[in-house]
Amino acid sequence: MGELFDLIVVGGGLGGAALARSLAANGARVLVIEREERFRDCVRGEMMTP
Ligand SMILES: Cc1cc2nc3c(=O)[nH]c(=O)nc-3n(C[C@H](O)[C@H](O)[C@H](O)COP(=O)(O)OP(=O)(O)OC[C@H]3O[C@@H](n4cnc5c(N)ncnc54)[C@H](O)[C@@H]3O)c2cc1C
Repeated sequence: MGELFDLIVVGGGLGGAALARSLAANGARVLVIEREERFRDCVRGEMMTP
């Protein structure tokens, strides 16, 4: 791999993925490490409150 990362996110769930995406969109080199090999569809939320 040989790349350097600005941030390593452990867990690609709602929080980790949102953080990784917003930092990568601002130029950060981000590595997300997720233990699940396959996406497991399950209820994680119906509403987001401000
Ligand atoms: C039934 C239900 C309904 C909900 N409804 C709402 C709602 O309406 N509104 C709301 O705001 N919230 C709701 N929530 C809460 C919301 O889903 C959680 O707060 C949110 O999923 C947390 O996101 P997270 O990324 O912190 O954790 P998670 O989504 O749990 O993600 C953690 C990830 O880390 C991975 N992981 C764990 N350990 C490791 C490791 N050692 N190495 C690599 N990867 C690892 C896991 O595989 C997982 O993918 C609900 C939750 C449930 C269960």
